[in-house]
Amino acid sequence: MSVWDDVVGQPDAVATLRRAATDPAAMTHAWLLTGPPGSGRSVAARAFAAALQCTGTDGETGGCGRCRACTTTLAGTHPDLTVVATDKVVITIDEVRDLIMTAARTPSSGRYRVIVVEDADRMAERTTNVLLKAIEEPPPHTVWVLCAPSAQDVLPTIRSRCRGVVLRVPPAQDVADLLVRRDGIDPAVALTAARAAQSHVGLARRLARDADARERRDAVLEIARRIRGVGDAVLAAGELVDVAKAEAVAATMERDAVEKAELMRALGVQDGDTLPPRLRSQLKQLEDDQKRRATRRQRDVLDRSMVDLLSLYRDVLVVQLGAAVDLVNAEHDGTVRALAADSTPEQTIRRMDAIGVARERLEGNVAPLLALEAMAVALRPQG
Ligand SMILES: [Zn+2]
Repeated sequence: MSVWDDVVGQPDAVATLRRAATDPAAMTHAWLLTGPPGSGRSVAARAFAAALQCTGTDGETGGCGRCRACTTTLAGTHPDLTVVATDKVVITIDEVRDLIMTAARTPSSGRYRVIVVEDADRMAERTTNVLLKAIEEPPPHTVWVLCAPSAQDVLPTIRSRCRGVVLRVPPAQDVADLLVRRDGIDPAVALTAARAAQSHVGLARRLARDADARERRDAVLEIARRIRGVGDAVLAAGELVDVAKAEAVAATMERDAVEKAELMRALGVQDGDTLPPRLRSQLKQLEDDQKRRATRRQRDVLDRSMVDLLSLYRDVLVVQLGAAVDLVNAEHDGTVRALAADSTPEQTIRRMDAIGVARERLEGNVAPLLALEAMAVALRPQG
């Protein structure tokens, strides 16, 4: 075993990172890992961090996966590893200043001080400029690993100072193999989930293990067949938004409560006490952050629903064109064939375009219900 085992379907990226961890001549101090959501950017970044810290077992270095440095880095508890994982919408300038201070310190026990920033694209330009100076002249023992969906998502000034490593969408079979090996999932279920998730590793895992998640996805796909007229379309759009809202609340509620309790404790306020007025702004700040996080989550869930719908129409087009490729939604074969028989390839493409437009409008902060209603209306049968 090695730290690279969970970095699935990325032989080129792994080769580059592994070499850098073992050969000083191939090493550099600022990296930019890019790849689409679910391609495993953060997994690859942690594996790289572990490989850099690895002290070796039986002469095997560069991420043996068994030494204490490897296991603690993968677990996120190595003292010389800092990971900025943002559920927040933005990384603030104060957070980056703290990071830079951390980066300047010598490693306490490891070979390097490694700073992983999982969403380097969530920084305002002013914040990025603060970071830039640190990346330009890092202390010799410091390694920055920035992650982003694509190189275009970070400022050119950052991009040009980092060595780029590109992750691709892993093959569905590789993702399925990982689920079987790591999570003990039945091979057939794993492959169906990997296909349905279009190789998004985290999502595939959730679909394979969580019947509710599968049910929600099925319900989204059923919408395609249910929409017969404008009335159904408006209802369906409302349902999609409600489901996303409920999922966002469920995902964030528990954590919000813990964060609030922690803040109150930090401020020295006992349970049940009212908050003194001078401390209210701090609570307000936290609540604003949490609200932003919930909004972001809701948009992510909606976007995921639209990617699912897109995959269904992609399957419809595959059937209509008689292409010899696997269906993403083989278990929805009936729906796919019914839609294929009911429409022309041109109509299918127009529907896919409508979904694409809705995704763009959501990204551009159009009210979700508005964007989805327009999309749903475009999905109804065109006679
Ligand atoms: Zn090791």
